[in-house]
Amino acid sequence: MIAPGGTIGILGGGQLGRMLSIAAAQLGFDVCIFTDEPDSPAARVSARTFVANYLDAAALADFARRVDVVTTEFENVPAQTAEALIAAGARVAPSPRALAIAQDRVDEKLFLNSLGIATPRFAAVNSQAELDAALASIGAPALLKTRRLGYDGRGQIRIDTLQDARDAYEKLGAPGILEAWCAFEREISIIAARGADGATAFYDACENEHAGGILSRTILPARVEVQTEHSAREAATAVLSALGYVGVLTIEFFVLPGGALVANEIAPRVHNSGHWTTEGAVTSQFEQHIRAVAGWPLGSTERRCAVEMINLIGNDATQWATLAADTSACLHLYGKRDTRTGRKMGHVTRLG
Ligand code: AMP
Repeated sequence: MIAPGGTIGILGGGQLGRMLSIAAAQLGFDVCIFTDEPDSPAARVSARTFVANYLDAAALADFARRVDVVTTEFENVPAQTAEALIAAGARVAPSPRALAIAQDRVDEKLFLNSLGIATPRFAAVNSQAELDAALASIGAPALLKTRRLGYDGRGQIRIDTLQDARDAYEKLGAPGILEAWCAFEREISIIAARGADGATAFYDACENEHAGGILSRTILPARVEVQTEHSAREAATAVLSALGYVGVLTIEFFVLPGGALVANEIAPRVHNSGHWTTEGAVTSQFEQHIRAVAGWPLGSTERRCAVEMINLIGNDATQWATLAADTSACLHLYGKRDTRTGRKMGHVTRLG
């Protein structure tokens, strides 16, 4: 166990790093951020920040010397970065393998399928001819997605016709993945944690609504059968143990009519759909992650009451004064300097 006073290193400087840093401070840790972005949201609440390229070997070696453990706040940190930190003597959680799997939509689905977890049918796409063949076998509607570095609905285009496939390929190029369109009834996520001792804990399933591919609202309890929630936990247990995972991990699922689950993606980190846990659960997902990577026992995931979390996206955050006057709203603002369309600027949680 890393004792209070130790230093947690976090790769990434976004809002997840900011909320992890605040949770780490509550447990008496210092946080050192490593990011390629100057003046990041996480840096402004942390003891120290390295601003350098994720492949800068000298900066990574220096960072490794100054922290007791390294974790990540976004999955697109190059897996080589985590490997370089391990080579420099750092303890790193989650592992480079977990990062690598979550960074590649094809590898991620192969991994899930290898554990018996259903995903949409898919095919890797490296050329227009492969896309045409994939569309012929998977059928329309389908989604062409970039294989790597997509997030919040970016890098994905719906395909209904062969002409759509041509246009989509023109825009996204290769490498890509074609996924069958999933006619889901609702979307849920399961936020799970595994401690260094192998203990696991699960938050109640979150029901998620997206607008334009971006999470807009999460509510709990999710409107799913007990059996569906049980299956989601079983899938998460399989993923955690196959990866020997330490920390918080999220799996997003589509729920089909009838309750069957189809996994969409894995996030090897705390997740936007878990922001409600800050006020709505005994232990927040952020504290839980810090506990796990510091080798502490996991905290209680018990939910206090019904909860709603609404994202403040782009100009939504200009309503901060109204929200500040709303006594039912727990307001979180991420301190981002620039407002952009589709950018997550903050969130509001309402209890009860
Ligand atoms: P992603 O970036 O893959 O998580 O996708 C963002 C959102 O797009 C998801 O939360 C869904 O609402 C939608 N989506 C992604 N993949 C599919 C699919 N295969 N079928 C239907 N909707 C999808």
